[in-house]
Amino acid sequence: GRDYSNVTVTNDSNDSDRLLGGLLATGFDEASCLSRYQSPLYRKPSPYKPSPYLLSKLRSYETLHKRCGPGTEPYKKALTQLDQEHIDNNGECKYVVWVSFSGLGNRILSLASVFLYALLTDRVLLVDRGKDMEDLFCEPFPDISWLLPLDFPLTSQFDGLNQDSPRCYGHMLKNQVVGNDKTLSHLYLHLVHDYGDHDKMFFCQGDQTFIGKVPWLVVKTDNYFVPSLWLIPGFDEELEKLFPQKETVFHHLGRYLFHPTNQVWGLVTRYYEAYLSNADEKIGIQVRVFDVGAGPFQHVMDQISSCTRKEKLLPDVDTVIERSRRVTTPKKHKAVLVTSLNSGYSENLKSMYWEYPTLTGEIIGVHQPSQEGYQQTEKKMHNGKALAEMYLLSMTDSLVTSAWSTFGYVAQGLGGLKPWILYKPENRTAPDPACGRAMSMEPCFHAPPFYDCKAKTGVDTGKLVPHVRHCEDMSWGLKLV
Ligand code: GDP
Repeated sequence: GRDYSNVTVTNDSNDSDRLLGGLLATGFDEASCLSRYQSPLYRKPSPYKPSPYLLSKLRSYETLHKRCGPGTEPYKKALTQLDQEHIDNNGECKYVVWVSFSGLGNRILSLASVFLYALLTDRVLLVDRGKDMEDLFCEPFPDISWLLPLDFPLTSQFDGLNQDSPRCYGHMLKNQVVGNDKTLSHLYLHLVHDYGDHDKMFFCQGDQTFIGKVPWLVVKTDNYFVPSLWLIPGFDEELEKLFPQKETVFHHLGRYLFHPTNQVWGLVTRYYEAYLSNADEKIGIQVRVFDVGAGPFQHVMDQISSCTRKEKLLPDVDTVIERSRRVTTPKKHKAVLVTSLNSGYSENLKSMYWEYPTLTGEIIGVHQPSQEGYQQTEKKMHNGKALAEMYLLSMTDSLVTSAWSTFGYVAQGLGGLKPWILYKPENRTAPDPACGRAMSMEPCFHAPPFYDCKAKTGVDTGKLVPHVRHCEDMSWGLKLV
């Protein structure tokens, strides 16, 4: 293991590693957000290098954010536009406001999507802090906050925004109140999984031209909608330049944006150093069960063993009574990190490897940081622990995730890992095969549109280009490969 006790990050590692190949800007106060420059010490260097074009785009975004962000003159000027129904002349800066909505994994993915949209459309991203965004994440941009100021005039409406809100783009389209002569001061984009065909017009080039003129966009979404941005003709060339390796979108943007606060980072590093750092190999198993009823379920346990055994991630045990066992030294030590709301799955694995020896002689330690029981929304540390666990999973060497779970997508993306996905059980039965290797480390867009904007008909958007395909774990979803 490495010695983390006396980490002087500045002198210890070369700058390119420390800054994730130039992804991170220099000049932040290190102590205020230790994870920003320390996380490379806990992970192998990523084999995926950000493109020079992405780096220059991020640096110019940072300049834009500094010029237009909260409290600046252009920001104040843009705020006055909100008082008007239509705007007379274009202001200097345009904005996209991300509304805090849904579970933590969903929020991380949707925020990365909205940030990419901001990069593509030269908008400034502002983040509604919701209940806990500020407690979970450091500021990602130098000098000026990404948080939406508390006195933003529309904040009190955020909770009530839905498909039928008067300024909802889909609602306006449906009711044919979108005219081309005047530019609206703000629009609400409803991109939540329950959205309708009119809302989905967001993904059409022509609609983007209209939306592009509006200085204030407010977006509510629980989805990773990046794959469908690649299908918009106005964006695809730019995206190819930003991400020549297409499956790296969330990997890079996630590492650029999401730095746990010192409190959460403490949860990550203490756990890592106590249970993972000395292992020769680290295996992550993320268990998310969407069945109703209290677990643990036998079929899920069976699925986990069948997958880890078949894929040679964990060794079999020798259940025959031990007679004389040859001592083979040194023994390989594997640490298994299990995350789940339920403690049963890790307890089961732990007992098995305590009660019986492994056939390979490997020593298996099984660890589960938290057992929160059920999904909670009000408790602060609940999401702090969830974030710490996503991070810890991202630091493993091999990862097993659960189908449909954004929690797992975040871990695989941050870690740069192609996981083995435990397919979704049907009728309380473990599927066969129990799991399969992901095509790419990208998250899946769970609610994509199936519409050909030009032909104005339905189309299978998973079959249009080779790099946007249907997901392994959800047949109608889309992902980049
Ligand atoms: P998804 O529902 O799996 O797509 O993931 P989300 O993160 O969006 O929502 C699930 C929420 O349940 C998380 O934000 C956590 O609050 C909680 N949760 C689910 N699984 C775990 C787990 O393994 N550990 C912890 N600490 N929380 C979990």
